[in-house]
Amino acid sequence: MQAPAIGGINAPRGNGKVVRLPQGASLTDFAEKIGANPASLVAIMMHLGEMVTATQSVTEETLQLLGEELDFNVQVVSPEDEDRELLESFDIEFGEDEGGEEHLVIRPPVVTVMGHVDHGKTKLLDAIRNANVVAGEAGGITQHIGAYQVETVVDGHDRRITFIDTPGHEAFTAMRARGAETTDLVVLVIAADDGVKPQTTEAIDHATAAGVPIVVAVNKVDKEGADPQRVRAQLTEYGLVAEEFGGQTIFVDVSAKMGMGIDSLLEAIVLTADAELDLRANPDMPAQGSAIEAHLDKGRGPVATVLVQRGTLRIGDSIVCGGAYGRVRAMLDESGNILHEALPSRPVQVLGLTAVPGAGDNFLVVEDDRVARQIADKRQARKRNADLLKSRPKQSLEELFDDLKRGERQELLLILKGDVSGSVEALEDSLLKIDVGNEVNLRVIRRGVGAITQDDVNLSLASDGAVIIGFNVRPERNAQELADREGVDIRFYSVIYQAIEEIEAALKGMLKPEFEEVQLGTAQIRAVFKVPKINNIAGCMVQSGTINRNAKARLVRQGVVISDNLTVSSLRREKDDVTEVREGFECGIGIGYQDIKIDDIIECYEMREKPRA
Ligand code: GDP
Repeated sequence: MQAPAIGGINAPRGNGKVVRLPQGASLTDFAEKIGANPASLVAIMMHLGEMVTATQSVTEETLQLLGEELDFNVQVVSPEDEDRELLESFDIEFGEDEGGEEHLVIRPPVVTVMGHVDHGKTKLLDAIRNANVVAGEAGGITQHIGAYQVETVVDGHDRRITFIDTPGHEAFTAMRARGAETTDLVVLVIAADDGVKPQTTEAIDHATAAGVPIVVAVNKVDKEGADPQRVRAQLTEYGLVAEEFGGQTIFVDVSAKMGMGIDSLLEAIVLTADAELDLRANPDMPAQGSAIEAHLDKGRGPVATVLVQRGTLRIGDSIVCGGAYGRVRAMLDESGNILHEALPSRPVQVLGLTAVPGAGDNFLVVEDDRVARQIADKRQARKRNADLLKSRPKQSLEELFDDLKRGERQELLLILKGDVSGSVEALEDSLLKIDVGNEVNLRVIRRGVGAITQDDVNLSLASDGAVIIGFNVRPERNAQELADREGVDIRFYSVIYQAIEEIEAALKGMLKPEFEEVQLGTAQIRAVFKVPKINNIAGCMVQSGTINRNAKARLVRQGVVISDNLTVSSLRREKDDVTEVREGFECGIGIGYQDIKIDDIIECYEMREKPRA
């Protein structure tokens, strides 16, 4: 086979051969697969107008482009596929119940509460939790672990329901974005005195997109002006037709404040789940599920709330959760009771992981610690690559030059680290909502839980100065040292709005022109002339540059600034008013300042707009 010359560069031809590459692969990875020299691929890309280094992660388009050029059929494997393949290489299948129909057992529905702000989502979750949480031996002080399970009786049977204890759409969409289909059913909260509002319809859209049934909780019926019937009428327009109007949707009037209607709501959830969903899982297999929330506890280390979706989780199990692994040392429920096993749909707090996973990460029980660790290591390596890829936007040579020339493109890159995944997500959401027009771009290239590490600082360096934001966390010592040495900006916050305010100001600051001081000249005072009624005039010799009328000035005495922000209000040579006096000439200068002395220096300067970097 003949090696063709592409722009005079030799590289093997693929003749349509398939090359599989992970997202975020580099030209070196590509070269390895096809037995080429990485440098030749770099040269080809350069020829095609893209400047990339051999080891840098490149985008899918770049890989495709290169593939086309060399006649290889490039298949870029998505992170989900890659993870599936990774698990398959360990003989693990994620997301499926093992066995057949006969192994499936009914499991409780998992519910997320959504609705417009202030319509009472939090209050309702509180009311349900307080009234019905499965009481433990300890008699349960309930605590927030991100999800809880309640018990209710429907048609004489004990039934359980799991609630995701983070109200709002962000959590729901964030989990879904990561492929974690945790929610079986949505409770749409709508205030009877307020009716349909923008986030009400947004919630309906989210639920519909996810193909999840809705139960409507018409809240605040205790309030004056509450009109539950109007809410029913309004919602028909959005395809939610109440049963009493001949539709399929159950509406329940509740008052979260008075604790009214809660039991009916729970019953409606169970009935809707029974009618529309077939919620069953195999409890007799290694547990699998999703992380809901996780944080770093000072005394206990990483603490993660996971939702078991199939199988049974037990103390002592070896687990992998995202890029974290470990052995289940202890399991706690929402009342702080110790559990020995957790069945499908049960949320539990798990202790014993080596690191803090992200919300929405999948978790699974594997055969032993060694396997857990291998999977976690592979996932971490992949995540690092993906982070690096995100940190380097693809730019062609032309674009690079254009941007440099115009100094126009502005992008603020951020690395967010926080104490719990919920707050990191909330911060990211709010930051991305900051509106600063088209000229400035804000991009989060890494988010994570735990202290700021050396790796974070390295990523900032690799990405040309991303700002690191620590929310309720501090840097590890070597990370701080590295940051200081390399000049990486780390900022700390403990209140979200403060972080947002500052970032917003910084972004707007990036738009404003920056000024720098440029010295025009200096003059030494040789004599002081007293002029009645106005300030003294300085008889001077210009020592350097020029002194200009109306320029800014400061008075310096023995190296100390006596007064700043003055203006050269009068400037004379002999008896004539002039606009400028040059080095080596004598002149009379008035700077509107009385206390001037012989040998003082008048420094004359102006503020010039700095070209944008
Ligand atoms: P969220 O933003 O949807 O989570 O709403 P919250 O649960 O924070 O409730 C917003 C406000 O409505 C709070 O002041 C609650 O006390 C009040 N509220 C919630 N439910 C009821 C209710 O059933 N009746 C009345 N009168 N007020 C309620």
